[in-house]
Amino acid sequence: MSTLHIPTLIVRKREGEILSDTDIRSLIEGFTAGDVTDAQMAAFAMAVYFRGMTSAETASLTYAMLESGERFHFSGDRPPVVDKHSTGGIGDKVSLILAPLVACCDCWIPMVSGRGLGITGGTLDKLESIPGFRVGLSIEQAQRQLELLGVAMMGQTEQFCPADKKFYALRDVTGTVPSTPLITASIMSKKLAESLDRLVLDVKFGSGAFMKTREQAETLALAMQAVGKEMGVQVFTQLNEMSQPLGNAVGNALEVSESLATMRGKGPPDLVELVVSQTELITGVSRAALMALLDSGKVWEKFACIVEAQGGDADCLSRYDAVHVAPVVKDIVSDCSGFVAALDAGIIGQAALELGAGRSKATDLIDPRVGFDSLVKVGQRLDSGDVIGRVHAADESSALRAADALRQALTLS
Ligand code: URA
Repeated sequence: MSTLHIPTLIVRKREGEILSDTDIRSLIEGFTAGDVTDAQMAAFAMAVYFRGMTSAETASLTYAMLESGERFHFSGDRPPVVDKHSTGGIGDKVSLILAPLVACCDCWIPMVSGRGLGITGGTLDKLESIPGFRVGLSIEQAQRQLELLGVAMMGQTEQFCPADKKFYALRDVTGTVPSTPLITASIMSKKLAESLDRLVLDVKFGSGAFMKTREQAETLALAMQAVGKEMGVQVFTQLNEMSQPLGNAVGNALEVSESLATMRGKGPPDLVELVVSQTELITGVSRAALMALLDSGKVWEKFACIVEAQGGDADCLSRYDAVHVAPVVKDIVSDCSGFVAALDAGIIGQAALELGAGRSKATDLIDPRVGFDSLVKVGQRLDSGDVIGRVHAADESSALRAADALRQALTLS
C-alpha cells in the first residue's frame, strides 16, 4: 500500500507543482495495485492535461508505467532489435509491410501494436482480418518467434505495461487523451518494454491525424525523442502529413490486400516511400536493397511465415481479395473534371468508421469487409465519369452515405 497521500498529490499537480520521481512512481504503483482509485487517477490526468509535465516528470511517468509489467529481455548476442510507431492515420498500413521487411534485413522486430479507435485504424484489427491470426502472444512466445523468424506481431497483453492499459482506458472516457506528456509516457512505455536498440516514430499531423497541426506533432515528437534518449534508445522521428489517406485503400481487409501487393513490389508510391524510408532509418539497409527485397517476393514470403506461425491461414493470402467480400461494392464517379486538390482524410476516416471499419468505443465490433479502395490521389487528373474510389459496404443505405462522404471529401481545382 502506498504511503503517499493521493489527494494531496493531485492538489500539488493541480496547483502546478513539479512532482518528484518518487511521487510519480508511488502513484503508478498504487494505481496498478488498485490502491489508487479510478476517480483519483482521472483527476490526476486532468491536472496533467492543464498543467503539463516537465521532461523529468514525463520520463518518471514513462519509467513507472514500463516497470508496472514485464518486458522483453535479450542477450547481447543477437541482431539489432528495432521497431516503429505511428501515432495513427487513415489508411496507414505501414506496420504490416515494414515488420516482415525489417525481418528480411537481419534485425529483430518485436512489434507490439494497438487496435483502431475513432477514425484511425489499428494494426491488430487488420491482422485479425486474416482468418485464424492470433495477436495474443505472450512475451515468451514472441521471444521464441523472434529466434525463428526475426519478427512477432502482437497486442498489448496483461503482462505488458498494465498501468498504461488501465490508464489509457480511463483517459479515453475522461477527455484526457490529448496531453503530450500522457501520450508520450503511454507510447514510449510500451515501446521501451520491447527493449529496443532503435525506434522510428512517425508522428502524423493534419485532418486525418490526432495532432491537427505540424507544431503539435513537433512538440510530441520532441517529447518522445527526449524520453527515448534518456532510456538509451536511438530514436528517429518523422513528421508526416495525414491530409489525404495513405495509399488507395482504407478498411481492414482492403488494407491487408493493399499491403500484400506492396510486399510484392506493387504498392502505391506514397505507401512504399514511408515503408522504405522508415525501414532504412532503423536497419541501415539502403533504399535500393529494400526496394529489391520488396520486388523479390521475399517480404511476402516472410509475412506468410508470420501468418502461419501465429495460427493464421497463409494459403488464403494469394486469394485475399476473395476472403472478405462486402455485400455491396460500388464505384463512385466524379461528375466534373479537374485535378484532385484534396481528398480529406478526416472525412474518409469518419466515413469508414460509419461503414463499420472502426470503433467509436473499445468494445465495438468491426466489420473487416468494409471501407474504400481505388481512391484517387492529390494531383491526379479526373474527367467527368472517372472513378474517385470504390465503396465496400454491408448494405445499400450505408454505401450511399459513404458515397456522399467520399464526394464531400474531394476538392477539384
Ligand atoms: N496511443 C497510445 O498508445 N497512447 C496514447 O496515449 C495515444 C495514442
